[in-house]
Amino acid sequence: MARYINAVCRLCRREGEKLFLKGTKCYTEKCAISRRAYAPGQHGQGRGRRQKLSNYGLQLREKQKVRRIYGVLERQFRKYFEVSSKTKGVTGKVLLQLLERRLDNVVFRMGLAISRSQARQIVRHNQILVNSKRVNIPSFLVDQGDSVQAKAKEKALKKLKENLESSKDRTVPAWLEFNPADLTAKVSRLPDKEDIQHPIQEQLIVELYSK
Ligand code: SF4
Repeated sequence: MARYINAVCRLCRREGEKLFLKGTKCYTEKCAISRRAYAPGQHGQGRGRRQKLSNYGLQLREKQKVRRIYGVLERQFRKYFEVSSKTKGVTGKVLLQLLERRLDNVVFRMGLAISRSQARQIVRHNQILVNSKRVNIPSFLVDQGDSVQAKAKEKALKKLKENLESSKDRTVPAWLEFNPADLTAKVSRLPDKEDIQHPIQEQLIVELYSK
């Protein structure tokens, strides 16, 4: 799967807010947003969030921001929108729910990875079981009642526990019943918007794709 190869901090600077793409560094003074809170590039200091954006610009930036938070490429993001617009319920809410239900996101939210990109690697490296079966597809969607468990060889397990220790200040969302003793989480319900750690105006994304 294609992925971003540019320095991820540039993505945060482009959106003008912390997207927490780099793990523990994001919580320190080394965070690029704390040091250079303007858009990247030659003209960065003259543009960015402070510039007044058109409606379209606002919608586009919100979509890009959410895509970057979850590390999803445009084509897949649009597919999520198409699925959510055909699903019963409020389209924006269903869209966020789909993103949050991704297995890589669940691993990140359990605290087993310091970033979603690391969580993606953990899933790909066969370290995650869903309902006792190995699943190595980061975009796999968990459902209510599913159980997600980390199971790996000693060295990898040690790393997962280190990640858990580094993530101890992050709260596991209420829709996941996490048991750190056996690195298992049960999906007790589907996620709500309030469970998402970032301020997102999903309506702007719906408007953008509904044109
Ligand atoms: Fe974003 Fe983290 Fe880089 Fe800060 S350190 S700019 S939050 S990726």
